[in-house]
Amino acid sequence: MALYVNKYGGTSVGRIDRIQNVAEQVIKARQQGDDLVVVVSAMSGETNRLLALAHEIQEQPKPRELDVLLATGEQVTIALLAMALEEKGCPARSYTGAQAGIVTDAAHTKARVESIDCDVIRADLAAGRVVIVAGFQGVTEEGDITTLGRGGSDTTAVALAAALKADECRIYTDVDGVYTTDPRVEPRARRLKQITFEEMLEMASLGSKVLQIRSVEFAGKYNVPLRVLSSFEEGEGTLITYEAQDMEKALISGIAFNRDEAKLTLERVPDRPGIAHQILGPIADANIEVDMIVQNIAGDGATDFTFTVHRNDYKKAMDILQQIRQDLGAEGVTGDADIVKVSLVGVGMRSHAGIASTMFKALADDGINIRMISTSEIKISVVVDEKYLELAVRSLHEAFDLGKEP
Ligand code: ADP
Ligand code: ASP
Ligand code: MG
Repeated sequence: MALYVNKYGGTSVGRIDRIQNVAEQVIKARQQGDDLVVVVSAMSGETNRLLALAHEIQEQPKPRELDVLLATGEQVTIALLAMALEEKGCPARSYTGAQAGIVTDAAHTKARVESIDCDVIRADLAAGRVVIVAGFQGVTEEGDITTLGRGGSDTTAVALAAALKADECRIYTDVDGVYTTDPRVEPRARRLKQITFEEMLEMASLGSKVLQIRSVEFAGKYNVPLRVLSSFEEGEGTLITYEAQDMEKALISGIAFNRDEAKLTLERVPDRPGIAHQILGPIADANIEVDMIVQNIAGDGATDFTFTVHRNDYKKAMDILQQIRQDLGAEGVTGDADIVKVSLVGVGMRSHAGIASTMFKALADDGINIRMISTSEIKISVVVDEKYLELAVRSLHEAFDLGKEP
């Protein structure tokens, strides 16, 4: 008998008929003799709705209160799914994160799972019940409700699978696996039968929200077999693995993009030691994370200094630059929040020259201006104007022939 942790995302539980559908699937799996722990997200749109309510009252609500609010979304779906199962004659019990023994640190709105006490879950499984756990949430040692960051139900599922030593963690969503790029942007994207943890981690960190990055980290660290599948149709989905099989050893595994970026430039700052620190120090002090950084080589003792931040932090970062501009002797401050980062990902590119030039040529041929570039061993990222996002993704997908089996 196998034990599976199945996670169903917001769209998959977004309406009553979909919750019924999930109940049917759970019952089918049980009929094959498997034990099931089911993790669910809030109904689609619900977390955003709750956030908007909060912001109608306060621009910056306390993270502790936000967590109390946001955790309610998942509490609705666990109860409804338990009812749907009971109604169909399948014994089930729902638990909030706290009730399921998921203890986290106290970093509200982005808490990390520290430990899971599985006694309650094991007792229920032994009694023949399906266990349903609210995704995205936990509790601190002190008893405060926490949430795990957007998309955090994936991490709940993987953490439970690790703690219970489940045979597989299955992430059921609204696409039937991990694709070469977001299939909603490039319909010719191809589903990957498998992808390595390293590549999935890179794709997730560069913006592919199909899996929360922490869930991939967790699965890699604790050896959790992880699979992404559709909750709407049957199929084998995509397995996240340690080693790529030869068949799929492609140069490029996919294209990720991130719409959440904004860039800022300090124009013509004096080119002297310490300047980068003087600019980014106050940014870091304000708890703003910086992603890409570019400093031009200066010819005449002055230099342009550009960096990107999360779009939500754009205004705050701009205010800081305006404040320090004069002290630094910079000539001006400019910014642009309508930019995106598009990244080519692949462990195979490590040993290959010419990938960057193929990438830049493809973008140039479509008239797309590159505003920033950054590279690592297994990725190349460019910043382009947001209006070019779809075009850039499709043009790169085509240039590297990603629609074709390698
Ligand atoms: P859920 O609500 O089930 O957690 P998400 O919206 O978080 O679902 O994740 C699924 C979505 O991820 C898909 O609808 C798709 O648009 C997006 N996505 C982005 N990149 C990829 C990719 N490379 N492969 C598959 N889906 C992707
Ligand atoms: N409901 C949360 C969100 O929308 C968590 C999740 O769905 O994974 O981010
Ligand atoms: Mg998700």
